[in-house]
Parts: sequence; structure tokens; C-alpha cells
Amino acid sequence: MEHTKCLIIGSGPAGYTAAIYAGRANLQPIEYCGLQTGGQLTQTTIVENFPGYPEGVDANQMMMELREQAERFGADIRDGVVTAADLSKRPYIVTIDDGTQIEADTIIIATGASAKYLGLPDEQKYNGMGVSACATCDGFFYRKKVVAVVGGGDTACEEASYLANLCTKVYMIVRKPYLRASDIMRRRVEENPKIEILYEHNTEGLYGDNGVEGAHLVARRGEADERHYDLPIDGFFLAIGHKPNTDEFRGQIDMDEQGYIKTLGASPCTNVEGIFAAGDCADPTYRQAIVAAGSGCKAALEAERYLNR
Ligand code: NDP
Repeated sequence: MEHTKCLIIGSGPAGYTAAIYAGRANLQPIEYCGLQTGGQLTQTTIVENFPGYPEGVDANQMMMELREQAERFGADIRDGVVTAADLSKRPYIVTIDDGTQIEADTIIIATGASAKYLGLPDEQKYNGMGVSACATCDGFFYRKKVVAVVGGGDTACEEASYLANLCTKVYMIVRKPYLRASDIMRRRVEENPKIEILYEHNTEGLYGDNGVEGAHLVARRGEADERHYDLPIDGFFLAIGHKPNTDEFRGQIDMDEQGYIKTLGASPCTNVEGIFAAGDCADPTYRQAIVAAGSGCKAALEAERYLNR
């Protein structure tokens, strides 16, 4: 069985940054890219909030350059998805979808999270053409436009408030007759004159010849009171939660009830020695590329320290 000092799982900003640091520390890391090489950022277009790019940077290009940088320092970056992991004894054993098994002294889990979608075919059809699951990433492209945010939790309120600073009007599409969000977030959106909350509404589809031009909505107040109508909008933002990509590690490592890996304080250390978590799989709060990159750096430094001990 192949053996490595450091196995990195995931290829978003956290995984690649971990690979750069582990490579430079001569750990000769092996990195498996996972289902979505380059991570969630490859779903967006231009990244304008990553420090160092005054004109913004193409997200795919940025991820390719991070990969090249890691390869320059000896990271062995491979396609493949982790299907199973045995973290019960050292060295840890990880199985890849092509059947390969790798024995690792340390593992950096940087598998990210996936935004949840409603499951409408139109979300796919208009992906990147008016449909987004990240207001901080894409909101800027909707300046002075009308958008809708789906969801009634803290994320939806936060995204709606963020978008209200940029857009002329923000609708919140909420399936229940109330918001699930915390009091302070709820008050913030309720008091914002640019935000209109459409309670007991669901989205049936999207329309538009050239990107999103509107949403087909249904307002339901009991079976007898159902109204279908079209709402003209330029952007459709999903904020119905994220799911951390941690199923393969469930039961073997401490996680919260949503599946986010628990780390010790501000460190990337988990409750299992030699296993570190970086990026969105351990971060339900910030979910930003720059934060993920920082935590990838910390994970590689901790892996190196652990191996030296
Ligand atoms: P939540 O799970 O809290 O909320 C998801 C929202 O999306 C709910 O309103 C839910 O509706 C709605 N929803 C889910 N599925 C669908 C669907 N298929 N159709 C329509 N609506 C749907 O997720 P969040 O991402 O908002 O928050 C996750 C965690 O992160 C929470 O604990 C939150 O408090 C925390 N957080 C904290 C922040 C802060 O403190 N600044 C900022 C962001 C998040 P329903 O209520 O009907 O289930």
C-alpha cells in the first residue's frame, strides 16, 4: 500500500494552500481533488475580494494557479474522490473511488461544503446566469438591480442585508409564515425598506431568454388560497443552508449536528491525533476563500509539527 506523510483531501483554497505549505515543508503531500476540482469557487466567475487582485481574478484561473504553486513545491495532486476512511488506528487508511488505498501519517481534511439548492431544473439552466448561492461572491454584479433571496434563516437574512446595500430591491422568498433567523437578523431585514419578505412563498421555476428575468412563484395560505404569479427579478440567490462534505468521516471524528468538523479552539486540530480540518468543512460561519486558505496554512503547519514530535 502506498504511504504518505501527509494526505490532503479536497482542492479548494484550503486544500491547495495546505499543499503549498506541506510541499514547502518537504512533506511530499499527496492531494486528492474530490468531486469538484478547485472547489466551490469554480462555480463563480470573478473573485473580487481575495486580497492581492485589485482588478479581481477569474476564479478558475486562481484555482489553477494555486494548484500550479502547490505542484511547484512537490505536491502530488490527483483526481479522485475519497469513499472511505479508517481513522481508528495509525497510520490512517483512506480509500479512493478507483480502489486505491493510501496509508497516511497525517490527514488534512479540506473537503468543503456544498450549498443546498431547491432542486429545480432551472437552477442548473441559469447557473452563473442569474442563479447564485453566494451573495458575497456575486452580489456586486447585481448593483442597482432587483434580486430575490430564498430562505428564512440567518444566512438568508445576512445575504439579503448585504444585497440591499447594492441592489434597488431585494425580495426574500420564505416558505413558512415566519423567519427562522435570530431576532437581531430578523429585525434587520424587517426594518430595511429595500427588503420585502414574501412569506409562505415557494419557487416553481425561473424564466428569461438571456439569464434570469424572473421567478414563477406560488403563494400558499392553506389549500384554498393558492396564487401563482411571476416576479420579475435579475438575480436569484439560494440561502437555504450548506452541507459540509464530511459523510466519509462521520462517527470517527467529532462533528456538530450538521456535520461540520469540530476543531480545537482556533487551531485546525481535531479530536483525533494527526487529523486536521481546514476550510468550509469545519467552518459554518465565515465560509470565505481567504479564511479557508488561512486555515489550510494552519493545518499544514500543525501537520508538520505533529510529524516532528
Ligand atoms: P438554516 O438551516 O438556519 O436556515 C435555512 C433556511 O432555508 C430556513 O428558513 C429553511 O426554511 C429554508 N429552507 C431550507 N430548505 C428549503 C427549501 N427546500 N425551500 C425553501 N426554503 C428552504 O441555514 P442557515 O444557512 O441560514 O444557517 C445555518 C447555521 O449558521 C444556523 O445555525 C445559523 O444561525 C448560523 N449562521 C449564523 C450567522 C450569524 O450569526 N451571523 C450567519 C449565518 C448563519 P424552514 O425554516 O421552513 O425550515
